[in-house]
Amino acid sequence: MAYNVTLIPGDGIGPEVTTSAREIIDATGLKINWEICEAGAEVFKKGLATGVPQETVDSISRNKVALKGPLETPVGFGEKSANVTLRKMFETYGNIRPVKEFPGVATPYSGRGIDLVIVRENVEDLYAGIEHMQTPSVAQCLKLISRKGCEKIVRLGFEFAKSQNRKTIHCATKANIMKFSEGMLKRTFEDIAKEYPEIEAQHIIVDNCAHQLVRRPEQFEVIVTTNMNGDILSDLSSALIGGLGFAPGANIGDNACIFEAVHGSAPKYAGENTINPMAVILSGVMMLRHLGEFKAALDIEHALYVTCAVDKALTRDVVGNTSATLTTDFTKKVIGNLGKRYEAVKDRDYKPLVVNNSNIPVAPITPKERFVEGVDIFFETTKPIGEFGKIMEEAAAEASLKLKLITCRGMKIYPTTENTTTDLIDQVRVRFIGSGPLSDAMIQNLIAVVSTRGSWSHIEKLHVFDGKQAYTKAHGED
Ligand code: NAP
Repeated sequence: MAYNVTLIPGDGIGPEVTTSAREIIDATGLKINWEICEAGAEVFKKGLATGVPQETVDSISRNKVALKGPLETPVGFGEKSANVTLRKMFETYGNIRPVKEFPGVATPYSGRGIDLVIVRENVEDLYAGIEHMQTPSVAQCLKLISRKGCEKIVRLGFEFAKSQNRKTIHCATKANIMKFSEGMLKRTFEDIAKEYPEIEAQHIIVDNCAHQLVRRPEQFEVIVTTNMNGDILSDLSSALIGGLGFAPGANIGDNACIFEAVHGSAPKYAGENTINPMAVILSGVMMLRHLGEFKAALDIEHALYVTCAVDKALTRDVVGNTSATLTTDFTKKVIGNLGKRYEAVKDRDYKPLVVNNSNIPVAPITPKERFVEGVDIFFETTKPIGEFGKIMEEAAAEASLKLKLITCRGMKIYPTTENTTTDLIDQVRVRFIGSGPLSDAMIQNLIAVVSTRGSWSHIEKLHVFDGKQAYTKAHGED
């Protein structure tokens, strides 16, 4: 059987590592028709703001499977990440990142049996990149987390654990601080865990998770987490097993899967033929298992074990390694070792990963009762807070509402509190509350009234769902 796979060589070291992976996969005897497609830096240079040409989109849509090299993203300026665009375009909602001790690769953790997998939500959270400047000196990034998105990633986590016969799963969140957004993942995890009684499910606060990963990584099997947490935890975890050169990944969607290393384009090593191709080769191994080619996947894994542990051929990045095998020589050695077995590693009994997310409704939660009891309006101002507070009190009275409080970066600063240490900036949030439910007409009237008294940039409704306030109190609020 022949497979059609989209191959995106990518930027920097991308062409070197993807060539290595492709040659090794081809050497297993599998018939793969590689469709070579562009994305990333060269595409940006041609003036295409997405960094992903239509031919590449068409190829992935057709083939539903892609092996991708890293793509460069300008830091702090310029276009959006073509990586994130691809993940969002194909709704690859789950990013699976295995972290496994590799034989022959000595690290301070060697022998402890690290074999964990981070299952990272891949399309929501801060990485949706919904950013605005609220004032010329205050930036905002919206952290949107949906129940549907959480259900999809949590189910993927549990089904993944099942497919690899793993017994425990952790959910790492910052729900102690971000009770609604990060809390959404925690609540969803606790709900869905009931459907998988055979898997021990536990929540862990993400900062402690980082600590525990360094202290005792062998305690983890599967960690489900939000997008940004997962990005950071997986880079951290890769360092435990020898670095980013050993960390593969799979972007899983219902309509397409894109396999790629965790690492980026490491431009300083581009063209040197010294970079470690293993992360992309192992991403290729994940791709083969996704295609159902379990034997070819295992053959490559064992050829890698033999190359690293028996031949002791390791690339420059492996700490303490003196052989500094070139990327192309490493590739040749792996190809030469195909068919050999390295008995010291016990193979997992891999089963196909089957996740059915098709019946999750667009809005999985529908409260019986809901109303809006107020609004938060964000203003740009440098007026003394006492003076600005009085102006807003007048506006509230004119709109037949009450001013509840004013905050600066979440801390109550009006009506006056004992707190005198909040360092003011040129942006405040004013909370207006009604004596009953607020209609849109009342809110529009309030906007008209405050617009004559201040410069506002952003508004949020304060919802009450089934009797529960669906917004957080300010720090310092009673
Ligand atoms: P990076 O490219 O991952 O490189 C960081 C460091 O990790 C390298 O300097 C090197 O460490 C090590 N490293 C990475 N890949 C390696 C490999 N295959 N073998 C051995 N060592 C490896 O991260 P970055 O420098 O932060 O980002 C560079 C560019 O890549 C940026 O434009 C970023 O946006 C992009 N990026 C893309 C993706 C993606 O396409 N999915 C992911 C992350 C970053 P030493 O310096 O210690 O040798």
